[in-house]
Amino acid sequence: MASTGDAFLDEQIALVGADRGRLMDVLRAVQTRYGHVSDASASAIAAGLGMHVGDVIDALSFYAFFSRVPAGRFQIRLSRTPISRIHGADAVAHAFCQALGIAMGETSPDGLVTLNWTSDIGMADQEPAALVDDVVVTALTPEVVPAILAALRAAIDASTGIPSPGNRVPLPHARVHPNVIQAGPLLSRAARRGDGIRAALLLPPEQVVARIAAARLRGRGGAGFPTALKWRLCRNGPDGERHIICNADEGEPGTFKDRVLLSDFADLVFDGMTIAGYALGAPSGVMYLRAEYAWMLPALHDVLAARRRLGLLGGAICGHDAFGFEIRIQSGAGAYICGEESALIESLEGKRGAPRDRPPFPTEHGYRDRPTAVNNVETLACVARIMENGPETFAALGTRESTGTKLMSLSGDCPHPGLYEVPFGITLNGLLDLAGAPDAGFVQVGGPSGRSVAPKDFGRRLAYEDLSTGGSIMIFGPDRDVLDIVLQFAEFFADESCGWCTPCRVGTALLRDQMAHVAAGRATLRDIGALESLAGTVARTSRCGLGQTAPNPILSTMRDFPERYEARLHAADFVSKIDLVAAQRESAALQGRHPVEELF
Ligand code: SF4
Repeated sequence: MASTGDAFLDEQIALVGADRGRLMDVLRAVQTRYGHVSDASASAIAAGLGMHVGDVIDALSFYAFFSRVPAGRFQIRLSRTPISRIHGADAVAHAFCQALGIAMGETSPDGLVTLNWTSDIGMADQEPAALVDDVVVTALTPEVVPAILAALRAAIDASTGIPSPGNRVPLPHARVHPNVIQAGPLLSRAARRGDGIRAALLLPPEQVVARIAAARLRGRGGAGFPTALKWRLCRNGPDGERHIICNADEGEPGTFKDRVLLSDFADLVFDGMTIAGYALGAPSGVMYLRAEYAWMLPALHDVLAARRRLGLLGGAICGHDAFGFEIRIQSGAGAYICGEESALIESLEGKRGAPRDRPPFPTEHGYRDRPTAVNNVETLACVARIMENGPETFAALGTRESTGTKLMSLSGDCPHPGLYEVPFGITLNGLLDLAGAPDAGFVQVGGPSGRSVAPKDFGRRLAYEDLSTGGSIMIFGPDRDVLDIVLQFAEFFADESCGWCTPCRVGTALLRDQMAHVAAGRATLRDIGALESLAGTVARTSRCGLGQTAPNPILSTMRDFPERYEARLHAADFVSKIDLVAAQRESAALQGRHPVEELF
């Protein structure tokens, strides 16, 4: 391998075997060390991995956690969701801005901090929260901001001017509570390392798949695809190597179940991946971990090392000479769309995370063009419990079509936010009672891509056959501004669209702008009709689930809360969407001249 002229870069490229599919690992290492990936580094990486530099920059520019220009010595990313904002995120942001003398999106003059908003970081039960590089700080208040900044200043090495790990003062509020409020069979006890694997190895692989089928396990991500069917499709794919991928890119705002499973039940998830490897004849698996959970990496690597020592990873697992399995963890870099399985695979292959056209499906042509089973963290934890306790025990809970229990992440206007394990089929009323929020004004089920549910429908059941959800349950009190929350969801989708297809790239921006017009009280009845029509078009014509579900919050609140829209209507027949005076002022400011109105 030719040297790039940068010893650190050479080392990173050697660590991944100069495999261009491992581009994300190299970019992350460079970003962490230098605070950005310069054009010179991108060229050197391209040379080292045998890629075109355009492909490196294409991937680099796609992910929010990579930067091509230098930033502050620390990156503070404040979580911005309707939940964080109802708990005071705006006041915390204001305190940071005041203390640093900057606006959001800027770097402090002393180069200490770059301050940004980011989408949900998996802490909806402990908001306001932020990432300070890879450290999570939770339950923030404006008062704690000076102490955090003082700790960061204390971490700077006076001789080098860069942060020194040895100097690192623990950050105030750097704590994450598991927050399991109600545990069921999945969470009731710690994983007994390897029990599920040992039970699986007593059976031939096809019998393991049959047990998962007998449990009627469905994917816990929300779509509910039968796990055994996915595995059978993968087994029946083209001969040769197969892959297991654990989707730990938990990006749906409001969810934090994977956070709990990976921090407190990682063995259960790794057991599930290993069982899947045995059932499918795959020699290795990859866990794709969202960048926002990078703080878990050291602990997860410790768990993997312990498993290797115990014979639960590597060759001859549990003494079974014919079965070996390896697990690698791959970090994402801040792209919501990578929760979609084909986008995740593109990212794993070192590309921008744009969804693929389907068919072919990943079970036929997936990671590195081989048959691939992508399963969610909770699904794989369920696989381990099914093999431990038997499919009948699992299927005895829940409903006929939705067996087992479901992890629900509750947040918002309720006295007991946290993780609840409940049997499928529980009503929304039942769940709200558990959380102490029987008088909720509305509930967003399934995150922004799900749907809002009004009190008249709180009797509906949480199950694939009724209200299907990956587990995000955002609770809003009766006095919350529905339209403002819907606007925040619209802003989220406009930010997260990967931009590949026009209906979503342009449509989500138009939905955001038109929703802002409505929320500001400037929309007429005619505008509401146009908004509904646009929402339908975006849903019908977008290429993947992101665009197809982006209009859900608008459409479901229009249906369930028409009075809130009507109350905000402007009486006129027509109101211009352009505020000419404001636009003229903005233009004057950009050009450094006086606004026209000041001239007269
Ligand atoms: S729908 Fe949106 S996220 Fe999906 S491919 Fe199109 S632009 Fe990308």
